[in-house]
This record gives sequence, structure tokens and C-alpha cells, in this order.
Amino acid sequence: MASAAVIIPSVDEVLRGDAGRVVVSRYGRTAAVGAIRAAIAELRTRLPAGADASPQTPPTRADTALAIASKAAEALEAAEAPHLRRVFNLTGTVLHTNLGRAVLADEAISAATAAMRHPAALEFDIQTGRRGERDDAVRGLLVELTGAEDAIAVNNNAAAVMLVLNALAAGKETIVSRGELIEIGGAFRMPDIMARAGTRLCEVGTTNRTHLKDYEDAIGPETALLMKVHTSNYLIQGFTKEVGTAELAGIGRAARVPVVDDLGSGTLTDLSRHGLRRERTVQDAVADGADIVTFSGDKLLGGPQAGFIIGRRDLVQKCAKNPMKRAMRLDKIRMAALEATLRLYRDPDSLPRRLPTLRLLTRPREEIAEQAGRLGQPLAHHLGAGFEIANEACTSQIGSGALPLETIPSAGLAITPPDAVPVETLAAAFRALAVPVIGRIARGALILDLRCLDEEQVFVGQIPDLPLKLAALLARTAGVP
Ligand SMILES: *Cc1c(COP(=O)(O)O)cnc(C)c1O
Repeated sequence: MASAAVIIPSVDEVLRGDAGRVVVSRYGRTAAVGAIRAAIAELRTRLPAGADASPQTPPTRADTALAIASKAAEALEAAEAPHLRRVFNLTGTVLHTNLGRAVLADEAISAATAAMRHPAALEFDIQTGRRGERDDAVRGLLVELTGAEDAIAVNNNAAAVMLVLNALAAGKETIVSRGELIEIGGAFRMPDIMARAGTRLCEVGTTNRTHLKDYEDAIGPETALLMKVHTSNYLIQGFTKEVGTAELAGIGRAARVPVVDDLGSGTLTDLSRHGLRRERTVQDAVADGADIVTFSGDKLLGGPQAGFIIGRRDLVQKCAKNPMKRAMRLDKIRMAALEATLRLYRDPDSLPRRLPTLRLLTRPREEIAEQAGRLGQPLAHHLGAGFEIANEACTSQIGSGALPLETIPSAGLAITPPDAVPVETLAAAFRALAVPVIGRIARGALILDLRCLDEEQVFVGQIPDLPLKLAALLARTAGVP
């Protein structure tokens, strides 16, 4: 090695130094030793090349110990940051599956917190002092709100569909239209789910047209279910024909075959009351005569992740008694949040105020545009010259397979970086903030749809950090260590 070699201190030496002692007191000795060892090893790999290239005088031993301790502290801090972090969802998709779908109402959060902190009567009847049923927390509300005879809740709607198919059609046939054999995200494909649930898929009709007669002709001694599936993420348009739940229920009754309606998102309120396009409600499906209806808890309903099975009592009870139910059941935390969310639906008029999902979906465009007006200036100020910031007329989406083609007029900002800054790097700088900001890239600009921007102060408060984050990312892409 060259004469101006850096002398690397030992692990003990670093630990004994001022910075080393701080690292030990913060993260504990075991973690500190591991991180310092790693930092030393990393330094060793970098040194031989760097030493000769560097014309400066080598750092003192104490300086090197300090640098190693800081590297170790940095690594430990990064390792301690939670993996599941809160973010700003400025994608324009209100119910974004990758960002956790619905945010909960205060009432649901309080109920969940209380359930976490204290014992709860989850399977205990307080009146009789005997064992109770887990689903009692939501059964009454669901029956009251939907008009169904009976109801249970499971882990999510995928579980609800799986359980229904297994409990009601294992070893037999389930009839579905070819136009409804959906694939939704995360490898949920209806034909695969049917196979795993142990029911034989009987496809009827064609992709674009299925008639009542197609179902009627397919019904035989092996038929256990007629199934209708909400085509959540696509729309078949043009020369089309589908059989509605009411018609299907008619032939189901005549043939004594139950009809299942998988609504996917499922809403308990008429969205047209709130200025959105009407989506068939859960109540509609029940009224149309579906024997079983399944839907999600964290899509339009605005609650925690869950799936519901509601409908005819004998069929719901078959699902409840199926051994798979145990593997799909809800814990007390989610059950508490779910009950509190459902309770809000007793007063539909207050829903847009109390249910965040509906509040965000119905936020007036003008209000969002005003917010965009407030944020443009601080962004321009901190990003500096070269960045072009324009008000953008956006269109938000509901997301999670509700009204897939419906767009809601919204507002936001389009930030176009100067040529020297790739737009992907700008997007990465926003994601590198303490509360990561997730937007989307279009036409060379970062688009921030502000429909879901709550806590504007938190957003504004971290804008001054942007230039540093951007500089660090640009340095990294330029190859500077
Ligand atoms: C979303 C959806 C599901 C799955 O619901 P999860 O709650 O995400 O498990 C099932 N069927 C349809 C039609 C859907 O839209």
C-alpha cells in the first residue's frame, strides 16, 4: 500500500470513541458491533483503489473511527425505519390496492385501538356469559343494512368467493358466463380459484354475449351453483348481452340451484346520491334475488380488509361451518374496525363527512384546485429555476375495480424538470421524503393529483427537503459515492 495509507481502527477502538459510544447507547451493543464490523469491512474494500488516487493527506485514526461510527449509525437507522410506511397517495386512484386501499374512519380507528389495548368479547356473549359467535359483531348490522337473512365476514373477498365455492359446490359444477371469467390483480383468476375450491367450472355463452338459454341449457344434475361475477376492471361494450341477477335468480329458483353474485367492490350506499355514477348496490343484489352475495370490506365500503358472505341463512351457515372458515376468519382488531365502519351506514347523510373514502371521492374539484394553487409557489421556490410547475386538470379514478371507466374531475400539479434532471429522478426525490409522495409520470412531467392530499401542512413542511434529496439522487446516478 502507498505511504499515505489510511490506518483502520479496530472494532473496539471505534466502540470506545465518542461516536461509537453514542451508537451503542442508541442501538445496543450487539447491533452496534455488527454494524461497525460491516462498516470496517466496507471501508477495506474501498481503500486500495482510493488510497493512491487521493492526493490529500490521509485522515487521522480518530477521524476514520468517527467516519466508521457514522456509517454504522446510518445503516442502523435505515434498518430501523419501518418497511410499511405511511405515504401520500397523489396517484389519482383513490382506492389504490398497492397503497392499502381505504383509509379508515375515526370511529373505526378508535374501535380498533380499543380492541388492541383491551380484552374484547370476540366470541363471548356478555348477556348470558356463554360462548358467543365471532360474526355476531357484524351480522346484525349487515342484515339490517342489506336486507339479507344472514351474514358472515372473512379475511377478504377472495376468501369469501373461495369459501362459498368450496362450501356450496365442491365436487360439483358451477356455471359462469365466459364474459365474466375475470382476472384481477395478484393472480386471482376465477377459473383457478374454482379449481382450488374444488368445483368444476362450466363456462357458458361467449365473451361478449351470454343468454338466459345458455344457462338453462347447461343446468344438469351436477350443477351446484349459478355464479355471476362483477367484471371489475373491464367493460365489454358493443354487441353484448349479459344476464342480470334477477333473471338468473328466476331460473335458479326454478331449477333449485342457488345463485351467487360476486359484486367485488360492493357499495352499501347509492353513489348517485353523492354526485357519482350509480353502481349497483349490495341491497340491489339481495333484492334481485341472489341467494349469496360476496363483496369487499376495503373497497368502496371504506373499511378494513375483509370479505362478506351474505344471503340465505342455510347457505351462509354452510359457509360458516366449513373448516376453511377458521383459516379465513377475522381477528378482533379488524372486527372492531369493521363493525364501527358498518355502523356509519346507518346514517347515510353523514357518510360523506365521516367516511374518508366517500369524502375523498366527493371532494369538489374547485377545492382541490385551490389547494393546487397554494402548493405551486412553495414547490417552485424550493425546487428553483428550471423546474416548470403548472396547474393540471386531472381525472381521478375510484380504483379497486369499482366503475372502471368512471373518471372524476380533479386538480393537481404537473412538475416538469429541466433537461439535466430525469423525471424518474424527480419522482424518486418525492418518494425519498420523510412521508413519501407517490405521484405518476406522464408526458415527461410528475403529476400530483391532490384529491387525496390530507394533512397539507405535513406535505408543505417537507418541501424544503426536496433539493437535498434530489441532489443526493443525482449524485448517485452520476456515480459519486
Ligand atoms: C376485488 C374483487 C375480488 C377480490 O376481493 P379482495 O377483497 O381484494 O380479496 C373478487 N371478486 C371481484 C369481482 C373483485 O372485484
